[in-house]
Amino acid sequence: ITILAIESSCDETACAIVKNGREVISSVINTQIAIHTEYGGVVPEIASRKHIENINPVIKKALADANMTWDDIDAIAVTYGPGLVGALLVGVAEAKALAWALKKPLVGVHHIEGHISANFIEYPDLKPPFAGLVVSGGHTHLIKVLDYGEYEIVGRTRDDAAGEAFDKVARAVGLGYPGGPKIDKLSKEGNPDAVQFPRAHVDDAPYDFSFSGIKSAVLNYINQAEMKHEEINRADLVASFQKAVVDALVSRAIMLAKESGLKKLAIAGGVAANSCLNETLRKECEKEGIEFYSPSLLLCTDNAAMIGAAAYYEYIKGTRHGLDLNAVPNLKLGERI
Ligand code: ATP
Ligand code: MG
Ligand code: FE
Repeated sequence: ITILAIESSCDETACAIVKNGREVISSVINTQIAIHTEYGGVVPEIASRKHIENINPVIKKALADANMTWDDIDAIAVTYGPGLVGALLVGVAEAKALAWALKKPLVGVHHIEGHISANFIEYPDLKPPFAGLVVSGGHTHLIKVLDYGEYEIVGRTRDDAAGEAFDKVARAVGLGYPGGPKIDKLSKEGNPDAVQFPRAHVDDAPYDFSFSGIKSAVLNYINQAEMKHEEINRADLVASFQKAVVDALVSRAIMLAKESGLKKLAIAGGVAANSCLNETLRKECEKEGIEFYSPSLLLCTDNAAMIGAAAYYEYIKGTRHGLDLNAVPNLKLGERI
């Protein structure tokens, strides 16, 4: 089964052709990061307009790179939520038009299921069940992947998502958007034990996260230094912040992998690209006898290959969407609309 998948939920316009959920034939990502950097974050209206400009060229390139024509495509897949409604709508409208004109089945995909499925591409032998840590710009979920497309959410953030915390702290220290990769890089020059930040935990919910406290502590630290006219060592500051976030993520993910008896842990989402998170999890998993799965950088942040992987498992289960498919900006994980 060869699926052409479209992703436009945020600021990447992407199209990929994926065979049997595991093999990427082509993958094209047009990122708008350079455009939104000027504004310090994603401007939804601009994102929608850029998706409209980019979507047809991106699809054309995916077909050309694969050396394929529409005859080679068995189904069209598209992210229909969660995400920015105006951004999602561009991909959804495009996918519906293609499915109708070409008389091909249409499969709507949950963006976060896509992130998780990036692991199926990176590790062709990985099969559920496994424990999962989803850490992206808008989500922080600890889950059990019970089967393809079947999830149990065990923990979640009570406030900011991990990626959101990275982006806000980066902005506060003047690193710009997107903050994650910049903090990752600068942290390598800093001392992660220079500043002690709180490791928040939620009472009675050992698997839940809270990052707004760490973020506020960083902002307070900056304000106090400014008041005292003290120079801040930015590398030390962001390295210490990163360590606090990574500690919180790693301790709970390892706890789940151990206590659930699943013995396998996969990470997913943009923050899964973080080098400190990867190194720390790899070490801890090794210590505990847990198999660790982590997608390569381009599969962590938004792309359409991961959507094609998730779509395949929906397709073989019989999931088909009609031309009434709509964008669902707050679609829940595991929810089917
Ligand atoms: P969601 O997937 O929740 O809808 P999104 O699609 O905007 O949100 P992703 O593309 O999955 O998010 O990831 C982007 C996020 O990942 C940003 O917050 C970015 O700062 C963060 N990120 C990317 N690379 C790194 C890194 N190396 N270290 C930490 N964070 C990173
Ligand atoms: Mg993005
Ligand atoms: Fe994403």
